[in-house]
Amino acid sequence: MNTKDLVGVGIGPFNLSIAALCHDNPQLEVAFYDKKPSFCWHPGMLLPNTYLQTSFLKDLVTAVNPQSPFSFLAYLVSKKRFYAFLNQERPAISRHEYNDYLQWVSRQLQTLNFNQRIEKIDFNNDTFEVYLEQNTAPVISKNLCLGTGKRPHIPAAVKAQYHKENCFHAIEMANHKRDFTNKRVTVIGGGQSGAEIFLHLLQGHDGEPQEINWVSRRSNFLPMDETCFTNEWFSPKYIDSFFPLPSQAKTQIVDEQKLASDGISESTLKSIYECLYDKKVAGEQQNYRLRPNRDLTAAYLSNGLVLEAHNKFDNTTEHYHSDIIILATGFENALPEYLEPIKHRLDLNNEQQFHLNRDYSIRWDGPQNNKLYALNAGRYSHGISEPQMSLMCWRSATIVNDLLGREYYDLQDDCSFVEWRNPTPFDATQHKLSA
Ligand SMILES: Cc1cc2nc3c(=O)[nH]c(=O)nc-3n(C[C@H](O)[C@H](O)[C@H](O)COP(=O)(O)OP(=O)(O)OC[C@H]3O[C@@H](n4cnc5c(N)ncnc54)[C@H](O)[C@@H]3O)c2cc1C
Repeated sequence: MNTKDLVGVGIGPFNLSIAALCHDNPQLEVAFYDKKPSFCWHPGMLLPNTYLQTSFLKDLVTAVNPQSPFSFLAYLVSKKRFYAFLNQERPAISRHEYNDYLQWVSRQLQTLNFNQRIEKIDFNNDTFEVYLEQNTAPVISKNLCLGTGKRPHIPAAVKAQYHKENCFHAIEMANHKRDFTNKRVTVIGGGQSGAEIFLHLLQGHDGEPQEINWVSRRSNFLPMDETCFTNEWFSPKYIDSFFPLPSQAKTQIVDEQKLASDGISESTLKSIYECLYDKKVAGEQQNYRLRPNRDLTAAYLSNGLVLEAHNKFDNTTEHYHSDIIILATGFENALPEYLEPIKHRLDLNNEQQFHLNRDYSIRWDGPQNNKLYALNAGRYSHGISEPQMSLMCWRSATIVNDLLGREYYDLQDDCSFVEWRNPTPFDATQHKLSA
């Protein structure tokens, strides 16, 4: 059996970008596997009127290889929509169109394999063994790239009710039968997904709910900061400055930057406000409640589900009766089960998160030329851009260069205006205090 140079586990946008950059490279034998029947980008959240929060130019390949046949612009030209795309002058492209672009790329790459769940990964004889659900013989590879995404975060207060009585995570939204007419619906979470679902319900896409309740622990429904200096955090230069910092400092910095990645798009906030205003003008009976600054404290069954929350604004306790609860509460990293056979060899912190090297490989006790790269796992090591698509292509090229052992892709990007680090560290010997 031939040994691959790289096996990609999971085919979301992040591993798809690596697959696109490896395409036609005779020096790399690669294969990627996903349990889904075909490529689809978060199908449970492909609601109408939802938009990408990232420029379409930050696609799978353009930042490092603008000549690639897999760019978003190549997709537009092949679909004969180039001029119409420009004419519509939309600030952001729809998630449906972006998904269509990703699917278009996925159909052209022969290295992708779908309907193949990875069950376990082992390491023997200086190679990784990748066991697929349906095969007994493993796929053998020198290196791996883990791209199986994150798992939904379920707040502790509602864990016992999750998947009972219509309490589900936003990522499953499109999989549910959704006629919410006469139902009391509570959406929990003040990020982009919570905002999109609240708007979706307000616009009556899923029937006429009796009540739509939007609860967030943030102090208000806060916008994503997309201004220019904030966007410098999503640049290669910033990662160079950020990566060497001590981990405690990194955690503090990332937590302070939250709204640069997890806030709500200004256009979505505006659409919500306009929708509320139009309802007022039309004299519609108010069926919505917007409740920021609330911490969920408990959930229990009593004529539907009852949520208990602490109102941090006036320090009181509130209760919301709901028939449907939609948890737009984000995602968290979890150690994939398929790593169980080699887990003891990986360098993990107390929260079971990987320690990553600068090249995105996990520190481990195996041979250093057998790498396990991890995507979407380095928010606290490489910075706030890690779970986003902004630097996806640049990170993919970093990994491809590392595999090839040379600068195959030119990753220099010197245009950054902020000095994050001290360019001339203090040298005490040069600054003697006069007596
Ligand atoms: C609704 C939504 C909208 C977003 N919008 C934006 C945006 O506008 N801009 C931005 O920068 N970021 C956005 N993000 C964040 C991020 O870019 C996406 O989550 C992105 O999809 C992450 O890509 P990924 O490849 O890491 O994982 P995923 O897209 O989650 O893909 C993981 C893949 O792994 C597969 N898999 C899992 N386990 C196995 C297994 N054992 N064997 C085989 N296959 C497996 C899954 O089937 C899946 O296809 C958004 C996230 C969400 C949830």
